[in-house]
Amino acid sequence: MSLTLGEKEIILSSIRDIPDFPKAGIIFKDISTLLSNPQALDTLMTHLENRYQNYDLDYVAGIDARGFIFGSILADRLGVGFVPVRKKGKLPYTTVAEKYALEYGFDEVEVHIDAFGEQKGARVLLMDDLIATGGTAKAAASLIGKVGAHCVEACFVMELAFLKGREGFSAPVYSVLEID
Ligand code: AMP
Repeated sequence: MSLTLGEKEIILSSIRDIPDFPKAGIIFKDISTLLSNPQALDTLMTHLENRYQNYDLDYVAGIDARGFIFGSILADRLGVGFVPVRKKGKLPYTTVAEKYALEYGFDEVEVHIDAFGEQKGARVLLMDDLIATGGTAKAAASLIGKVGAHCVEACFVMELAFLKGREGFSAPVYSVLEID
């Protein structure tokens, strides 16, 4: 079920633009104002719950850190497990890692080796607040495959469409709000 224009507006208007954060030229999309707005958060989460209830998911995997918030709420609503995809060095058990390129240098994401259970082929939805260049989410999707699970779709609250992050993604990409 798609969102009405009114519902999209409720979500969009709850997100705050912070110019020049964390550095000059970046417009940071601040979702703290979405989280503190119960009507906007419920509109978003009910939409995602309806979209994914028939996907036969086993897990929602959320990307560090804002993907943890939306991913956990969605996993709870769907009655499936939640798995954190973390920045390097945060997870305590044996991990599998994936490097990805930043504008300057590299970063790395990790999951626990047994995060998606013993059996291969668990059906996983990947979740984050925003896709920009797509580097972080592509690395996370690749990690899901490395530990033997299947990334069914990658879902974002926002997509900075002009950065074309969805191009070359190994899974279908769904974004609630496209931002030009
Ligand atoms: P990327 O790997 O370039 O797709 O960047 C995506 C990650 O960086 C996500 O975890 C986002 O939360 C964060 N991010 C990138 N650009 C922005 C932005 N303009 N506002 C808020 N978060 C951003």
